[in-house]
Amino acid sequence: MAFLPFTRPTIDEETIQGVVDVLRSGWITSGPKVKEFESALSQYFGGRPVRAFSSGTATLEVALRLCGIGPGDEVITTPMSWVATANVILNVGARPVFVDVDPLTRNIDLNLIEAAITPATRAIIPVDLAGLPVDRNRLYEIAAKHGLRVIEDAAQSMGASWKGKRIGAFGDLISFSFHANKNMTTSEGGCLVLNDEAQIALTEKLRLQGVVRFPDGNMDVDVAGGKANLTDIAARIGLGQLPHIDAFTERRRELARHYFACFDRTLGCQLPPENFNDSNWHMFQILLPLDKLSISRGEFIERMRQREIGVGVHYPAMHLFSLYRGLGFKEGDFPHAERVGRETVTLPLFPGMSLQDVERVCLAIKDIIESANK
Ligand SMILES: *Cc1c(COP(=O)(O)O)cnc(C)c1O
Repeated sequence: MAFLPFTRPTIDEETIQGVVDVLRSGWITSGPKVKEFESALSQYFGGRPVRAFSSGTATLEVALRLCGIGPGDEVITTPMSWVATANVILNVGARPVFVDVDPLTRNIDLNLIEAAITPATRAIIPVDLAGLPVDRNRLYEIAAKHGLRVIEDAAQSMGASWKGKRIGAFGDLISFSFHANKNMTTSEGGCLVLNDEAQIALTEKLRLQGVVRFPDGNMDVDVAGGKANLTDIAARIGLGQLPHIDAFTERRRELARHYFACFDRTLGCQLPPENFNDSNWHMFQILLPLDKLSISRGEFIERMRQREIGVGVHYPAMHLFSLYRGLGFKEGDFPHAERVGRETVTLPLFPGMSLQDVERVCLAIKDIIESANK
């Protein structure tokens, strides 16, 4: 039986040919394809200004710099995310302030945010884990009340929506990732949706060495920008992906529905919220009933692998990584995130898999858990 990975990008032949054409064109770094990609993204996000980057991490960091966030500032975020979300806060010299997650949605618990706000708080970085959107109404209500910026880490949210509105088409600053495992990819890449044309110039400077070029060939630099431009090769992949994003989302929802239909609810696993309106089903994550099992999560993953099924872990609670322990965070600080981090596994879910694949995964889990019950 062929190995079923937990995810795999869907790239059509037209896109592959388009990449070949870029390679033959004589211009392979940032150029016309990046501009074309940015305008296609802008159209997708309701006409807001968009700039493309080499990664979602670079995009988040530029967003923090655009907000003028640095040493002495605090940024509130979730401990249940890819560690990039908090690393960028450290990288601009600010302090990450974690707030525990809601045990059902596994997203930042909005009820706990106000207690974490201090005079040094400048921004909130919410994350839509697995593509399930954080409540944007409550989020922006809290931000407005306290005068905070919002940098949406929407790395996993491409194609998701909030009450019928596309994520990225409203809000403060919205950062997307086009890493290979995301719902839409450029192999590596990202984009930032701005809310103000006036921010474009600084965004472009922060993206590439702070350089401003003049028509006469001269240039100037007045800010130490980074090196985070997207290539035309990557942009061409994105141009081939974007027209399919809504179909990808539909297919993911169909597969997720099939997981709920096939999953044996008596096994004691905690399933994700059954949301088919807003979530783009970036991932299908279950929490294992480890207390009732004689095997560890590692053994579960190994037994799935023996059945030719790939399982991921997204993510261990990040405040328990050595770097963050070194900043004073410790076990017990965020009990819900810690439990999710211990028990979570990501099951295969990507547009190219079949309903039969979903059934095979559900049967394998039933088999493994029933034979490992204490
Ligand atoms: C993938 C991801 C990032 C980082 O994106 P890269 O493109 O890999 O730099 C940041 N935050 C979250 C929640 C992600 O899933």
